[in-house]
Amino acid sequence: ASRAVRPGSRPVEIAPGVVLGEGDPVVMAGPCAVESRDQLLETALAVRKAGARILRGGAFKPRSHPYAFQGLGSEGIALLKEARKASGLPVITEVMSPEEAEWVAPHVDILQVGARNMQNFSLLKVLGRLDRPVLLKRGMAATVEEWLQAAEYILAGGNDRVILCERGIRSFDQNTRNTLDLGVIPLLKSLTHLPVVADPSHATGRRDLVLPMSLAAIAAGADGLLVEVHCDPGAALCDGPQSLDPEEFSRLMTAAKRIMEAV
Ligand code: PEP
Ligand code: MN
Repeated sequence: ASRAVRPGSRPVEIAPGVVLGEGDPVVMAGPCAVESRDQLLETALAVRKAGARILRGGAFKPRSHPYAFQGLGSEGIALLKEARKASGLPVITEVMSPEEAEWVAPHVDILQVGARNMQNFSLLKVLGRLDRPVLLKRGMAATVEEWLQAAEYILAGGNDRVILCERGIRSFDQNTRNTLDLGVIPLLKSLTHLPVVADPSHATGRRDLVLPMSLAAIAAGADGLLVEVHCDPGAALCDGPQSLDPEEFSRLMTAAKRIMEAV
């Protein structure tokens, strides 16, 4: 992953014209979890209209509580494929195990490794063999070295399309869900050749903080954002308090474009 080994940056192309690490930052948006056809399609069309270029949606959810909504699983993947076709947006979804990764890979455009699985080495090894871009989230207590070593597992297997995602780390303060480590964005851009994106939704856990921290991440040089948007956040089965409604997301995009022009 080091620039010392491979100088310059290594843009990751997701679809024609959708490239992370080159040109304007790419915004990925959509619900935390795929809940239903209507919920996903309505949200997908709304985020596309506002300017998102990739649709996010979890089918396999890594919930802390075993009785919380675990995602629709394979039915969720089928709905993502439908939303991909209806919206024209490439899709990103999380996989938690080697088996899920192998099964899901042919159906989506980016495989997401969640914070809780950053050091799931069996999963990382399988992702290294697959022909799919991987978005690797930072573990909530991972150092930069541990994070880059996890990325190296995927690169070492032969998969050179790895995207790093800062999603906030655990700190002593409980006012925000996590602490967005903005400094790692320019740091990683100088240390590695990999694109770096920020997830202001999980980093803050609060809808009102998502827009300002999105702008801060772009100003810090992020190659993209991963933002949770729900057509009815109050009814969301997962992460409603940090989810934007389509109107709030549209405001975020308008402000983000101004910052993109300035940096
Ligand atoms: C998510 O993106 O829905 C998610 C579970 O994020 P994280 O792994 O960062 O907690
Ligand atoms: Mn979430």
